[in-house]
Amino acid sequence: MANQISAIRGMNDIYGDEAVAFDYLIGTAEKTLKQYGFNSIRLPIVEKTELFARSIGEVTDIVEKEMYTFADRNGESLTLRPEGTAGCVRAIVQNGLSHNQIQKLYYTGSMFRYERPQKGRYRQFHQFGVEVFGLATPDIDAELIVLTARLWEQLGLENLELQINSLGSQEARVAYREKLVAYLSEHKASLDEDSLRRLDSNPLRILDTKNPDMKTIVEGAPKLIDHLDEESKAHFETVKSHLEDIGIPFVVNPNLVRGLDYYNRTVFEWVTTELGAQGTVCAGGRYDGLVEQIGGKSTPAVGFAMGIERLVALLMDKQFVPAMAQADLYIVTAGENTSRPGLVISEMIRDAFPKINVQMNCGGGSFKSQFKKADKSGASFAIVMGEQEVENKEVALKSLRVEAEQKTLKWDDLINHLNTIFNA
Ligand code: ATP
Ligand code: MG
Repeated sequence: MANQISAIRGMNDIYGDEAVAFDYLIGTAEKTLKQYGFNSIRLPIVEKTELFARSIGEVTDIVEKEMYTFADRNGESLTLRPEGTAGCVRAIVQNGLSHNQIQKLYYTGSMFRYERPQKGRYRQFHQFGVEVFGLATPDIDAELIVLTARLWEQLGLENLELQINSLGSQEARVAYREKLVAYLSEHKASLDEDSLRRLDSNPLRILDTKNPDMKTIVEGAPKLIDHLDEESKAHFETVKSHLEDIGIPFVVNPNLVRGLDYYNRTVFEWVTTELGAQGTVCAGGRYDGLVEQIGGKSTPAVGFAMGIERLVALLMDKQFVPAMAQADLYIVTAGENTSRPGLVISEMIRDAFPKINVQMNCGGGSFKSQFKKADKSGASFAIVMGEQEVENKEVALKSLRVEAEQKTLKWDDLINHLNTIFNA
């Protein structure tokens, strides 16, 4: 045998119950988004590197050390998307989708980040992303949060905490940045290596540190929320009162700054304590400056992304996921010239009953081995076609789960009879 080839570290195969949970989550999210008037958008997985550098920010973790960047055969620098917003904004601008119109969009797919793989953190992972373009008012910020709360309810997920904050305007942040740098510079001795490096380039990101030794320093820092411009303050107050009106509990986390540079005003995260360190399952906020930054006309925007693997882990723990596909009817065909009419009958049943799961025994085998497979398939009935049945243009219908007498049915009567079972 040849050497086996394994997958790349941090890039997982998703199968079995986990694959069912993935589909269930995505299907449920799509239904919720449609309820709020969103449409699907499908975007490329590879973009020009410059797009991410310009939008996510040069001095973020993602751009500094997490991107899968490579030269294509023409020598152009390309990157596997680490997130979906940049590509979505690029698409909006390129296709002229934001001129005098509102866009409410969702997408799902793989994202790539070269991180240290651990529970809830992978190198290829999946997001379900939502973006709204063309709305500047706080009602839409609130509605996005509300729709995620509705989705958790539909998924049966409890105990998720909503954290919100406001990053204010660009100008307010510049003024705040000076105060923060002054404070952090006084405590230089206690800063870790990453933070020292960021002190000049991107001091706000120090607030987002995951290093527990930095906790005290960060907690003592001046708060951006105390330095907001008046308009952002009013915007934030309205978001909060909408959430209160609808009855969605939240906590204001003044250190919530998010790992990407493009946010302003509202930012939020849904956090759980049930997944260990990787507790954020959904994160987003407003990014009014990004469309212009990518070369479009100034367009307000707000969005979020859910981490599918982390939500799936929660669903699997709670066993809210439907079971893997189970057959309803299994077709056993044994003997000379039985599989051809077997296939015809199975198609006839599928035509008549689009919702039932019909499994034809492909691959042959004795009656005994086929009944074993029928049993394993979960089907409640087997249709048996041996040589005798085929000769008489009949099938035998056998109950697999409860005691019941076997019935012999003419091919012509089969659909009518199955109607009494499956459409009763
Ligand atoms: P974290 O702080 O956990 O690194 P982030 O701020 O980098 O998250 P975002 O870029 O906001 O994450 O992505 C949105 C969501 O995607 C996260 O809240 C998380 O649920 C999920 N996510 C991000 N990176 C990964 C990863 N490497 N593996 C699995 N899920 C991820
Ligand atoms: Mg990250």
